[in-house]
Amino acid sequence: MSAGHVLIVGAGIAGTSLAVALGHHGISSEVIDLDDHTVGAHIGLTNRAVDVLAELGVLDAVADAGTVMSDSVFGRMFLATGEPLPVPPPPRTDTGLPASVGIYRPELARILVDAAKAAGAVFRFGLSVESFHQDSAGVDVTFTDGSTGRYDLVVGADGVRSKVRELLHPKARPRYTGVVALRWMLDEEPPGQPGFYNSKTEMVAIAPVKGGRTYVATGAPSPEGHRVDQREARGMLRDVLSRFPAPAPTALREKLSDDHTVLVHPYEWILVPEPWYRGRVTLIGDAAHATTAHLSSGGGMALEDAVVLAQELAEADTIERAFAAFMKRRFARVKVVVDASVRLLEMHQAGESPMAMGALRTQATTALINPY
Ligand SMILES: Cc1cc2nc3c(=O)[nH]c(=O)nc-3n(C[C@H](O)[C@H](O)[C@H](O)COP(=O)(O)OP(=O)(O)OC[C@H]3O[C@@H](n4cnc5c(N)ncnc54)[C@H](O)[C@@H]3O)c2cc1C
Repeated sequence: MSAGHVLIVGAGIAGTSLAVALGHHGISSEVIDLDDHTVGAHIGLTNRAVDVLAELGVLDAVADAGTVMSDSVFGRMFLATGEPLPVPPPPRTDTGLPASVGIYRPELARILVDAAKAAGAVFRFGLSVESFHQDSAGVDVTFTDGSTGRYDLVVGADGVRSKVRELLHPKARPRYTGVVALRWMLDEEPPGQPGFYNSKTEMVAIAPVKGGRTYVATGAPSPEGHRVDQREARGMLRDVLSRFPAPAPTALREKLSDDHTVLVHPYEWILVPEPWYRGRVTLIGDAAHATTAHLSSGGGMALEDAVVLAQELAEADTIERAFAAFMKRRFARVKVVVDASVRLLEMHQAGESPMAMGALRTQATTALINPY
């Protein structure tokens, strides 16, 4: 089937990788986004996400700009004191590819946008979808700048606060977890062993970033709607680090100074009930299934959604069949990620043992090692 011309709303990981994959199948796309740049810190891509990067033809570029690891993102697990966490190691894929890669998010965005443009995608920034109306042959879209267009199909890849989802599934709303993510980039090598440090109630991730930098991520409770300013954010991060006596978190706490920026992001989650599509419009990525970072897999799921949707659109003889086949391949898999991530957060909130949490993480990553 030729899907003709596709509108992709959102130029994040899901939207840009879909544009690359569609272009490789000879399907043209236009990508729009409210913003013309990506903010954020580091991202760790693990399990089958690495296969997707290879399938999209960008793994070499990502490896050059990032850090390639021979073990999973969760290969280095420690207790808060720095002793190894006694849980089974996460499984490995048998592809011969690296087990995981870590990269600064704006670099990943640049690579994916360049690859999408090379595959023929056209980008427009600074606008969104105002409304759409579909009939049996296409979708008429009105944009927020007043312009209009007609497309064969529309894909909402516009993240956890998706406008397309609001128009398509008005009752599906993300839920706040009561926790904000705290992320910090230090312009120095990790001062000690990188990895995941676990206590009963908290986790601190420390990762090396290309260029001699360090990424630090954790979470802290915060009331819904409360605006955390930088002074408070640094205080929250210092408090968390003070409960991790291992050498690396302790050294990081000492290095966190008042001129450093800590990114604050409310953890919200949603799993839109299947099917995510209505007629010629569907959702992918965080717009359909967002969750906390406890499994470091949301970005991987967004990448997988993109290549699977492009495959199905290229192979099926109707859009309806392509969307149905896509749902069949995606729903149970992303549910593993959403459910386990939310459960891991609840286990932290309940103060359960790091061993039990490690076992759940290994169970989920074992399921994700199956091909997408
Ligand atoms: C703190 C934190 C750490 C994480 N760490 C990891 C990790 O290590 N590994 C991992 O795999 N995943 C991680 N994730 C999850 C990962 O970031 C997301 O799953 C991933 O970014 C989803 O990609 P997306 O393209 O679907 O959405 P997004 O990345 O949110 O992109 C959506 C895009 O849509 C645009 N947009 C939004 N609204 C509109 C609109 N109305 N109109 C047009 N455009 C719009 C936005 O500007 C954005 O460019 C983490 C998440 C958090 C919160």
